[in-house]
Amino acid sequence: MTRSLPELLQSAEAHLYPNYRQPELVMLRGQGVFVWDTSGKRYLDFYAGIAVNALGHAHPRVVRALTEQASLLCHMSNYFYNEPNIELAARLCQLTGFDRVLFSNSGTEANEAMLKLCRSYFHQAGEHDRYRIIAFDGSFHGRTLGALALTGQQKYRQGFGPLPGVTHVPYGDLGAVEAALGPDVAGVIVETVQGEGGVLPAPAGFLEGLRQLTRAHGSLLLIDEIQTGVGRTGRFLGIQHSGVEADAISLAKALGAGVPIGAMLCREKYSEALPPGSHGSTFGGNALASRVALAVLDEFEEKALVSHAHNLGQYLAQRLAKLERQSSVVATTRGQGLLQAVVLDSRIDAREVVGALRDAGLLVTVAGGQALRLSPPLIITEEELDLGLDILERVLGNLS
Ligand code: PLP
Repeated sequence: MTRSLPELLQSAEAHLYPNYRQPELVMLRGQGVFVWDTSGKRYLDFYAGIAVNALGHAHPRVVRALTEQASLLCHMSNYFYNEPNIELAARLCQLTGFDRVLFSNSGTEANEAMLKLCRSYFHQAGEHDRYRIIAFDGSFHGRTLGALALTGQQKYRQGFGPLPGVTHVPYGDLGAVEAALGPDVAGVIVETVQGEGGVLPAPAGFLEGLRQLTRAHGSLLLIDEIQTGVGRTGRFLGIQHSGVEADAISLAKALGAGVPIGAMLCREKYSEALPPGSHGSTFGGNALASRVALAVLDEFEEKALVSHAHNLGQYLAQRLAKLERQSSVVATTRGQGLLQAVVLDSRIDAREVVGALRDAGLLVTVAGGQALRLSPPLIITEEELDLGLDILERVLGNLS
């Protein structure tokens, strides 16, 4: 570090666009489940860059893949094939049962591709008026105008309208979906656990019901697995808990373990919906990001990280349930796998609690207003989970 903290903060305040609310510290480095700021203070990372750093920080396999590929070939654009990308597409198809992969650089872009695929599919079939999408209240699908139209939270949409073509209905309400369906509905998009909405797992039977309804109406079932996918919930995909077969899914976050990458996966049936020229990305599927994602999948396989996430998720849920019984400030706890939440009583300011936890050396995020979201790296051990949960218990104990 060459500049002092006050100098860095002053420069950030002067030049960065002020659309975020960062605390007054600068992160310097990470190792495993820990990160350090420039003052040398250590934090246990139960947030993992918003459910991204599945392998923690500075994982040797990721570092090796990055450095080796960077010295070989980073980027050529999609004017040419590159080997890591071809391999990655095959691996993802094998892991998920889908047939085709279209790469991008973020979750939002993967959702944009999924949305365009869905509309274009019907357009090509001559159903030009079939474009409406059903999405859910409380959902989060990204912030570009297409993805924002899908996102069912007013606080993100405010001031950016009109955002037409999407009908939002209550999450979990199959009757409302049925009522909203019509001949103009191209697809239904859903998260298997609403992440940003407050870590809300789909109610039992909901995804199965959506599959039945969409099938009966000839609409596509689109699953946003950006937060739930790549092992986070204790299965490779969140949808795999249900056995439901979607028409397309979107992935991002953990796939690159910190290196930007997104992917839209679909069935062969939709492989002509986005013909050459209709959609694309300069950086999407570049050799560097693809090579890292392959390293991530190798590590998942070698260390059985999906079942590890399942097992530790159960342990985490048990400890949170105990916390719920003991604490007067916890309204409820919920989640799936290593995506869990402690929902605070409405009298408590969740943002202040996040600050107090950070001061105590634990990083978590707020989701859906009152939920403290815990999404630690999937490589976390039981001892490291205990360390963080002890901090959580102590800080919440000071509030009661
Ligand atoms: N969809 C879901 C379910 C998400 O959780 C997110 C990000 O939090 C997105 C889409 C947007 O992804 P990105 O921020 O990579 O564009």
